[in-house]
Amino acid sequence: METKQFKAESKRLLDLMINSIYTHREIFLRELISNSSDAIDKIYYKALTDDSITFEKDNYFIKVSIDRENRELRISDTGIGMTKEELDDNLGVIAKSGSLKFKKENELKDGHDIIGQFGVGFYSAFLVADSVTVISKAFGADEAYRWESKGVDGYTIEPYTKDSVGTEIILKIKENTEDESFDNYLEEYTIKSIIKKYSDFIRYPIKMDISSKRLKEGSEEEYENYIEEQTVNSMVPIWKKNKKELTEEDYSKFYSEKHYGFDKPIKYVHISVDGAVSYNAILYIPEKTPFDFYTKEYEKGLELYSNGVLIMNKCGDLLPDYFGFVKGIVDSEDLSLNISREILQHDRQLKLIAKNIKNKIKNELENLIKNEREKYEVFYKSFGRQLKYGIYSEYGNNKDVLQDLLMFYSSKEKKMVTLSEYVSRMPEEQKYIYYAAGESIERIEKLPQTEVVLDKGYEILYFTDDIDEFSIKMLMNYKEKEFKSVSSGDIGIENDENENSSDLNEENKELFEYMKNVLSDKVKDVKASKRLKNHPVCLSNEGDLSIEMEKILNSMPDSQNIKADKILEINLNHDVFKSIKDAFNNDKDKLDLYTNLLYNQALLIEGLSISDPVEFTNNICKLMY
Ligand code: ADP
Ligand code: MG
Repeated sequence: METKQFKAESKRLLDLMINSIYTHREIFLRELISNSSDAIDKIYYKALTDDSITFEKDNYFIKVSIDRENRELRISDTGIGMTKEELDDNLGVIAKSGSLKFKKENELKDGHDIIGQFGVGFYSAFLVADSVTVISKAFGADEAYRWESKGVDGYTIEPYTKDSVGTEIILKIKENTEDESFDNYLEEYTIKSIIKKYSDFIRYPIKMDISSKRLKEGSEEEYENYIEEQTVNSMVPIWKKNKKELTEEDYSKFYSEKHYGFDKPIKYVHISVDGAVSYNAILYIPEKTPFDFYTKEYEKGLELYSNGVLIMNKCGDLLPDYFGFVKGIVDSEDLSLNISREILQHDRQLKLIAKNIKNKIKNELENLIKNEREKYEVFYKSFGRQLKYGIYSEYGNNKDVLQDLLMFYSSKEKKMVTLSEYVSRMPEEQKYIYYAAGESIERIEKLPQTEVVLDKGYEILYFTDDIDEFSIKMLMNYKEKEFKSVSSGDIGIENDENENSSDLNEENKELFEYMKNVLSDKVKDVKASKRLKNHPVCLSNEGDLSIEMEKILNSMPDSQNIKADKILEINLNHDVFKSIKDAFNNDKDKLDLYTNLLYNQALLIEGLSISDPVEFTNNICKLMY
């Protein structure tokens, strides 16, 4: 028996390997199974070019077995095996990958299935084992060898007897420590779960002896234990199957098996792309908002596989925030993985995939609007807010992706409409896309500011979500039509009856000046209204910050008492105005009272609170006696 030292500064490297590269101990099994799969692949590739070798699929498999008494976990395969030299080279030199060499020698281009490339995965066995034994017989060799190592001290190689070609790896599982249970890795259930999690789509069967109970023969109540060899992995992932062979049922089943959600997805997309970057993906658009979706705790992302092996549970880089609700998986052979195969090295390919996916989702949603409107509205109820937030959060940068996905309630249609539908219905002389913001549709319908716009026959979009007005301000316009709040100072509509409002303002200059002084800094101006018909007063605003936005900003936890520039508009055709004029000429105290009352009424209509409700009611009482 020869005892050898690991090469390549290996002691330190091995230490580093074992303790810092991997974040989860359980990936050791992923690594060893991947190696076995590579070893079988190698025979498969040899058979492709060498007629003397036949590859009978049934003869090739991986077997994982547990021996609890001896604390042993065994992974054996019927792959290509290793000669003595190869054991020495591949397992004795850290960071040397026999698989990478194989790929090069056989000129296997990108897109082949061999997983190994870094030459370190094998050593992850030491994450859970005190000693690792490898018994291997190489394809075409007469002799088998036994390699053994207890970690940093080096390894031994000696001749051994093994009948069949292939490799067997025996891990002596560590004893439990105070903070960690290694017994776990001797549990059938745990091992099966780890295989399912990381290696479900390895292309060869991974077998295990699974123990179960069954009724004893001839008995109706007596059970017996029995052991049955089962294939644990599904082998062909659903996303690599032919779309034509899959039913909607299959996709829904996968969605719930993956615990993407408890709902039934509104839509699924199965993508196979072959091009600058190749990948397969299945994406789902959920129906219901996950309970934590609009919180910081929610983590967006897609499952990422490379060659059928799970790399990341949630790869956030694959989805823009505004499509963060999308669930699903991506599998690509073109990814550059880092040495732990847990993270991506540089992300050119990933960026390409992400861009591609973004466009697919956009198209899918647009198709829903066109062809399955009801479904889209259900979706929009759950996630519309996220789309609007997407426009707002990046200063309107995502306008092109998102603007055609927006919907608002229409005064005319009494249902949700898109901006494009709104614009297509605009009469020629209508300059703006009108909107009104408020707490609910019912409240907005009662806003006096909407009257003149509605009378003109123009459609108004109702903004009932906090975010609506903010994101529209980022959007600024749609198809060159500017957005206009019905409460803004100039709404671009002349009301025939109030046509000469500038004259009217001139005529009542002193009165308005007086009223403005009564209200001091509460309003910026008092003016004759161009928009009121039935209501005596309303508030409008100048500048970018609307009254609705003021409300929203001030309701936030650390608000700083933000103020919109408010204008008190007076309806000169209303009977109330006669009383105002009368009071101005004869009784200034009464005018003070009226002015305050009218201002407070305007606040109430806007859904703003009155700063002194007691004074307000007292003032009303004063008018009653
Ligand atoms: P990688 O898989 O990235 O090449 P590993 O450290 O996992 O690196 O394995 C090192 C090398 O050992 C592999 O490239 C392969 O040549 C060889 N090897 C490991 N496990 C097996 C196995 N079960 N059968 C045959 N060869 C193996
Ligand atoms: Mg490997």
